[in-house]
Amino acid sequence: MQVYVDGQFMPAEDARISVFDHGFLYGDGIFEGIRVYDGTIFRLHQHMQRLYNSAQCLLLTIPLSPPDMSAAIVETVTRRGLPNQYVRVVVSRGAGDLGLDPRLCRRPSVVIIADTITLYPAHFYTNGLELVTVATRRTPTWALDPRIKSLNYLNNILAKLEAQQAGVLEAVMLNGEGYVAECTADNIFFVRHGQLYTPSTAAGALQGVTRDSVLEVAQALGLPATEGFFTRYDLYTADECFMTGTGAEIIPVVRIDGRTIGAGCPGPLTAQLRQGFETLCHRDGVHVSLHATCGALA
Ligand code: PMP
Repeated sequence: MQVYVDGQFMPAEDARISVFDHGFLYGDGIFEGIRVYDGTIFRLHQHMQRLYNSAQCLLLTIPLSPPDMSAAIVETVTRRGLPNQYVRVVVSRGAGDLGLDPRLCRRPSVVIIADTITLYPAHFYTNGLELVTVATRRTPTWALDPRIKSLNYLNNILAKLEAQQAGVLEAVMLNGEGYVAECTADNIFFVRHGQLYTPSTAAGALQGVTRDSVLEVAQALGLPATEGFFTRYDLYTADECFMTGTGAEIIPVVRIDGRTIGAGCPGPLTAQLRQGFETLCHRDGVHVSLHATCGALA
């Protein structure tokens, strides 16, 4: 596997970042997870927008222009050569000294890893997943806007550990006021009476690329969708529920805090949205000609 580190491609085992990198020392950095479906980089433009918006908020100057960053991602994907991939892009503040001061970090580090991903075994997609609500809250929007996709995931990791200790794989995270925000690395949706609902970014949800895609698919299907503030009551009494994310895609949820959701199996609107999303995945993105360029770069 070839990994891009600061302008150079190298085998994964040779890829190195300084121990003085503030991404490592302080979580000072941002990232994106991107999927490649059949040689098409899904919604690369939207991921680039989110990455550069996150950088803008952190006063982090990415040392590549958006077209150069896109080109570096395309080349990493091309070198990996697989039709289906998961790409991780990380931009950290770079190496500085042991103090917080970001001005002492001379150049942000850029890492691009192209690999594969399987977040959940296939049977969860057919049978659905169980969630529990955990005590660890989503970072409040007034402390750190959830639209910044930063390297600070401790709340989410603690939430994931709580879920695992409760014997399930995923957690529902609430915000400081008790409204549903999202899961640990996925957005959450529910269906009631033929309408779709998902927590607003103001409630603490990341503006997921998959979330946006699902909202678009819903619109195309004529399914009314509302972003807002919802409590666990809304989840418990929903007809259907599912999570969305680049890694997990759309995964049905059938039990939350011991309550069976709807009929206790993946619902029909979830299935319709999954189908629509699958069509979108193969249509929407930047196509990489893996076979044409693979040989040249090998
Ligand atoms: N919420 C969080 C906290 C995430 O980290 C992610 C991405 N893994 C998502 C939601 C889903 O976003 P996307 O659909 O862009 O992957």
